Amino acid sequence: MRTPIMAGNWKMNKNPEETQAFLNGVKGKLPESSKVQTVIAAPAIDLSTLVAGAKGTPLQTAAENCYFEDAGAFTGETSPKALKEMGLDYVVIGHSERRGYFHETDQDINKKAKAILKNGLLPIICCGESLEQREAGQTNDWVASQVEAALAGISASDVKNSVIAYEPIWAIGTGKTASADQAQEVVAHIRSIVAKLYDAATADAVRILYGGSVKPANVKELMAKPDIDGGLVGGASMDPDSFVALANYQ
Ligand code: PGA
Repeated sequence: MRTPIMAGNWKMNKNPEETQAFLNGVKGKLPESSKVQTVIAAPAIDLSTLVAGAKGTPLQTAAENCYFEDAGAFTGETSPKALKEMGLDYVVIGHSERRGYFHETDQDINKKAKAILKNGLLPIICCGESLEQREAGQTNDWVASQVEAALAGISASDVKNSVIAYEPIWAIGTGKTASADQAQEVVAHIRSIVAKLYDAATADAVRILYGGSVKPANVKELMAKPDIDGGLVGGASMDPDSFVALANYQ
């Protein structure tokens, strides 16, 4: 049985003060992590506030990016080693905004995934197709190639603990959600790719989220699908009441 995950991705929004206000707003209202795991991914400047505020609550914490070296002359970057020492749980990698605006390649994402796991954190690995690719019937092949590249050289036991997020680019921030059937179809395909690359036990264990305009109004339908293990939520994760509603979708 896979424990569902409801993860917020704040992107480049909120300062530490607003982070604290969010934490105050969700306090005592999130489900136990044995029922639904809740995670917030926040900008680097908010992470110390987030980690301190989440301590002793079910909320887990994520960075939205990291580099793949432990330390060194990499101006402006954040190391997974430092994130671990700070008390983070997860790092989101390969978001389409990072791939698009910041030119991250599949190889970068693979290096980051390995560095994250080496440091005792867990990656949330994003993948997803553009509208052109979907319309050209390339979705399954594209997503498979992203997942295969991201996981290259990673052991089955590490993959079992990792999280994959399927986020069709055309559904991100557009209000245009993939239908629950469309999301289920690709998420099931990703699980079959993991089974092919590893084995059935690994595919059964890995959590695969859907992301793209998830909100309290559509979360139930998405979560009813057998392969969808949770949501990676942008816009609807920033308001505490909305995040609480998402987390308590059951
Ligand atoms: P959205 O963003 O929920 O605002 O569509 C999702 C994401 O980019 O992770």
